[in-house]
Amino acid sequence: MNDDRKRLTLITGASLGIGRSFAEKLAARGDDLVLVARDATRLRDLADRLTAERGVRADVLSADLATSDGVKSVETVLSDPARPVDLLVNNAGVGSYGKFAELPVNHEIDEIELNVVALVRLSHAALPGMIERRRGGIINVSSMASFQPMPYNATYGATKAFVTSFSHALHDEARGTGVNVLVLCPGFTRTDFPAASGIDPGALPSFVWLSADAVAESGINAFERGHAECVPGLANRMAGWFAAALPDVLTARFSGIVASRVEPR
Ligand code: NAP
Repeated sequence: MNDDRKRLTLITGASLGIGRSFAEKLAARGDDLVLVARDATRLRDLADRLTAERGVRADVLSADLATSDGVKSVETVLSDPARPVDLLVNNAGVGSYGKFAELPVNHEIDEIELNVVALVRLSHAALPGMIERRRGGIINVSSMASFQPMPYNATYGATKAFVTSFSHALHDEARGTGVNVLVLCPGFTRTDFPAASGIDPGALPSFVWLSADAVAESGINAFERGHAECVPGLANRMAGWFAAALPDVLTARFSGIVASRVEPR
């Protein structure tokens, strides 16, 4: 294998928000890209722009990762030895807001399929080749929601707790293989996601928000340094330490009070 070949990176949820920032920043570093999301038009526009601006090859793969067939189409790309993927960014994710007992269960199941099942399947498709080539790795986008139980976002918080725990375990298993697995745990990030998950952005002070660009940049830098976890922003890191030091029963109560203030629906 020629180790000097360009890095090939596959990003899920690349059409918007943090995923799009990953695509822009990795293209600026010279990576060729495979961009995955459902909206093919948005992906194609982004791919054409990155090719024109950065001279990289950017392929588009439209797939619904909440479905088994959608995941399968991406697994096929990830396990193709003819065109090895060096970096997988498992970024696509959705949330929901409300009392669990009152939410439509199908949406909660779709959330688990996308945030957990797809991430596990894509990691499993990508890792063996990476380990064999002793090169590359995975960035799993989790959340600070993974650090404590999340009343009113119960399923979302639990899916992200899975992602953080799973990623730390894979990081440790990958020691000495030349492969890194990083979990990226953003706090509030200015994208369409918070409003879609029921958060009123105006109910939070501006200092708690980071840009999608800042989050992606922090994640890429931490991955390049071989770190296991990245929590972008000092205030977020301090909040994470606070959550880790307290019992779940207290952090759940605290989260429930905050959620009832910032998630007005
Ligand atoms: P976003 O702006 O809503 O973008 C979500 C991306 O995921 C889009 O590209 C969307 O494209 C894609 N996507 C959604 N459902 C999909 C599906 N079923 N199959 C394939 N792709 C799908 O969200 P974001 O804020 O960038 O969030 C990215 C990640 O960061 C998520 O995992 C989220 O949990 C995490 N995060 C976000 C925040 C925040 O405050 N924004 C905080 C912590 C963690 P299509 O609709 O075209 O499929």
